[in-house]
Amino acid sequence: MMQEKLVIVGSGPAGYTAAIYAARANLNPLLLAGPVPGGLLTQTTHVENFPGFPEGITGYDLVMGMQQQAERFGTRVEYDEIVEFQLTDGGIQTLKLSSGETIEAEALILATGASPRYLGIPSEERLRNKGVSACATCDGAFYKDVPVAVLGGGDSAMEEATFLTHFASKVYVVHRRDELRASPIMAERAKANPKIEFVWSSEVEEILGENKVTGLRIRNNKSGEVSELACNAVFVALGHVPNTGLFKEFIDTDAAGYVILKENTSMTKLAGVFAAGDCADPRYRQAISAAGMGCKAAIDAERYLESRHRH
Ligand code: NDP
Repeated sequence: MMQEKLVIVGSGPAGYTAAIYAARANLNPLLLAGPVPGGLLTQTTHVENFPGFPEGITGYDLVMGMQQQAERFGTRVEYDEIVEFQLTDGGIQTLKLSSGETIEAEALILATGASPRYLGIPSEERLRNKGVSACATCDGAFYKDVPVAVLGGGDSAMEEATFLTHFASKVYVVHRRDELRASPIMAERAKANPKIEFVWSSEVEEILGENKVTGLRIRNNKSGEVSELACNAVFVALGHVPNTGLFKEFIDTDAAGYVILKENTSMTKLAGVFAAGDCADPRYRQAISAAGMGCKAAIDAERYLESRHRH
């Protein structure tokens, strides 16, 4: 049994920013890095909109810098996974780890982030890692001089499609509407790229292929027409779902599973349990806003611990 003052769950910008603040406040935080150390930032390419990096920085370098900064002030980072939460209102927060270890914490910051959303059709599951991927940065280079498809119409889809043009002979962007959700700058960049072709108002009925992806069967939802599109890989960029399944029975979440916070704070309905970053943010979901939320959570946790020790 480990006894801790403050445990931070998650190792993206929210978790590491919380750790930097908490460590500098002498709270001696333990950060559990979770199943994807560094979080979603490690799966993006260049980050151009994080202030302080006028030339941009890779997502990986950005989050590794945050980790070093958190460790420099004494944050301990562990890579074990949590299998069970037992959360209380103002009491001890208990975490069970996959190693069998139990951690008791006086305060807890949930910064568990979000995971890629998939279509949820059987052929997608069957061909996962056999041409179906949610990470162009990780897998794009495997598809040189062949056509690939990207699913979605948001910023992620534009970013992935643009990145994939470095390798693929052609990139189809298959979107269910005839209008993009992406921000104008990202959309224009993709539209101006001669290797990118948009396939509008189209839904994927099936991903084709036995042991590797050979194409898509798509249905135009305006004309009803069904057609096949030949491609060797499918990059899913359909947004994200919050990673709150293991603890959402204890706190309030919205219909999509995002943690609901008390207005303008990082507080959940349980005293001593705070949340930050994408797991609690259905609206902005940016590295910089996650970092800001991590800062707020550390300050809220510090004040909570201080008043707890005073009483
Ligand atoms: P979004 O939620 O913005 O977009 C998801 C896209 O997937 C939408 O176009 C949506 O369609 C589509 N979609 C969702 N579910 C389905 C489904 N079941 N079938 C078909 N299509 C589906 O997610 P993103 O990951 O693109 O972006 C998330 C956040 O991260 C945003 O705030 C974005 O700005 C930010 N971001 C910023 C980047 C940057 O600035 N460099 C890079 C990447 C992300 P519809 O539009 O019809 O709802």
